[in-house]
Amino acid sequence: MVGMPEPLDRKARQREHDAKRGSARERGYNTRWEKARKTYLMRNPLCVMCQKEGRVTAATVVDHIIPHKGDTRLFWDTENNWQALCKPHHDRDKQREERGRFQAIGEDGWPL
Ligand SMILES: [Zn+2]
Repeated sequence: MVGMPEPLDRKARQREHDAKRGSARERGYNTRWEKARKTYLMRNPLCVMCQKEGRVTAATVVDHIIPHKGDTRLFWDTENNWQALCKPHHDRDKQREERGRFQAIGEDGWPL
């Protein structure tokens, strides 16, 4: 037998509904990034670092030149802050960043 939903049940459903809306928003965000990333790689199909080294390698990763750290302005700055990289270059770049954490850089750009 299905009766009228209890008030508590309605609240639970509302919570479930909110959770679903939240994940949908998240999906939308990921879809937007996924689309933008693909478009960017279509327009910039070659790894910029390999090009600098005189090699032609297909780029598979979109890298943020300045780590965005959750900053949406930096995150979506396709003109200035995105670069197309191959996987090895992207990973090498990340390793450099890891190492960079141990070497603080002063405001004048020189290591402290
Ligand atoms: Zn490369």
